[in-house]
Amino acid sequence: MSSSSWLAHPVAIPFNKPYLAGRELLYMEQAVRAGHISGDGPFTRRCSQWLTQRYGFGRALLTTSGTDALELAALLCRIEPGDEVIVPSYTFVSTANAFVLRGARIVFADSGPDSPHLDAEQLAALITPRTRAIVPVHYAGMGCQLDLIADLAQRHGLWVVEDAAQAINGYFQDRPLGTWGQLAAFSFHETKNISAGEGGMLAVNEAALQARAEIIREKGTNRAAYFRGEVDKYTWVDVGSSFLPSDLTAAFLWGQLEELDHIQARRSQLWQLYYQALQPLQTAGVARLPVVPAGASNNAHLFYLVCRSLAERSRLIEHLRRHGILAVFHYQSLHRSPFFAPHHDGRPLPHADRYSDCLVRLPLFHELSEADVLRICELVTDCLLGRT
Ligand SMILES: *Cc1c(COP(=O)(O)O)cnc(C)c1O
Repeated sequence: MSSSSWLAHPVAIPFNKPYLAGRELLYMEQAVRAGHISGDGPFTRRCSQWLTQRYGFGRALLTTSGTDALELAALLCRIEPGDEVIVPSYTFVSTANAFVLRGARIVFADSGPDSPHLDAEQLAALITPRTRAIVPVHYAGMGCQLDLIADLAQRHGLWVVEDAAQAINGYFQDRPLGTWGQLAAFSFHETKNISAGEGGMLAVNEAALQARAEIIREKGTNRAAYFRGEVDKYTWVDVGSSFLPSDLTAAFLWGQLEELDHIQARRSQLWQLYYQALQPLQTAGVARLPVVPAGASNNAHLFYLVCRSLAERSRLIEHLRRHGILAVFHYQSLHRSPFFAPHHDGRPLPHADRYSDCLVRLPLFHELSEADVLRICELVTDCLLGRT
C-alpha cells in the first residue's frame, strides 16, 4: 500500500500544538521587569489598539477568555429571566451558557444544509415578542450570513452578539467579522489561530455600551475612568466581575499578534493543501469538504470533512489513531445535551445532528508540515475508499 513507508515510521501527530510565533517569552519577561503584570498594562493597551486599528472595532476589551467575553456581552445586553436568545445548536457550550447564566430561555436554531452555520433563512420563524438577541457563530472562522441577520435584528430591535471565537481576521462581504454586531466575542484559547493559552476579547461596537462595558469588566467599578483622571475616586457603580486578563497574557498575545499575517498565511497553505488532496473524496461522493458560505472569507481556522454516517466517521477516526494521528469530532448538538434536552421545545434540528454525528476535524497547526498533510490525506483516502 502507498502508505507503507509512513507506517514503518509512525510519528504521532496531535490535533493541535501550541507554538511560539516569535517574541512571546521576551515580552512576558519585559512585562515582569517593567513591574506591571496585573490587568490593563502596556501590553494589554498595545493589543487593544492594534486590534481596533486593524479591524475597526468600536472598542476592543481584552478578557480572560472567549467565554468571559460572551458573559460580559450578556450582562451588557441586560438579558433577564424569560428573555429569549437565539443560538445555533451546533456550537460550543459557552455560546448558550453565557445567556443561561442571566436566566435567558435559549431557542436553538438548526444549521444549514451546506455548512454548520445557523441557517439564516429559518431565523425569522424563531423570533417572538420575547426575543432579545441573536448569537451567530462564525463556525470554522467563516462568517454567517450577517447581512440577513443584521437586517432581521434591526427590524425586530434585537441585539446581534457575534460569537467570533474562531473568527480572528475573518471577513464577510469585505467587512471584518466582529464589526457587524453591537458586540462580538473572540477567543485566544490554545486551539485558536492566535493564542494566549487562555484569553479573549470583546469588541464593543455600540458606542452607548462602551462606558458600561469598561465598568463591568473592572468588577463593577469606575477604576478605568479614575486612572484616566476623569473621576477623583473609584468606587462601586454597577454590577461586574473580573474579566480582564493579566498583562502576562497580553504580552504573550502581543507576540502572536505581531506575527498574525505570517500565521494566517501558513494556515491557509495547509488548508488549501488539504482541500486539493481530498477533492477526489468529494467527487467519489464519500465525504463532503467544507463549504465557505457565500460572501464569507476563510481564515483557515479548521479543516473538516463531513462523512456519510457516524459509523464511517468512527472508523476513520480509529484508522487515523492507529497510525498515530489525532483527528477529532466536534460539537454535540446542544438541544440534545443532558443539561438542555429537558428544556428544548422539541423541534427537530436534523442538520445540527448530522454535523454532530458526521463531522471530523483533521490536524491543523503552525508546525504541521506539507508532508504530514499529504500523509494524513492518503490515510483518509484509503479509509474512506475502502482500501484498508
Ligand atoms: C473556543 C470557543 C468559545 C470559547 O472560548 P474560550 O476562550 O475557550 O472560553 C466559544 N465559542 C466558540 C464557537 C468557540 O470556538
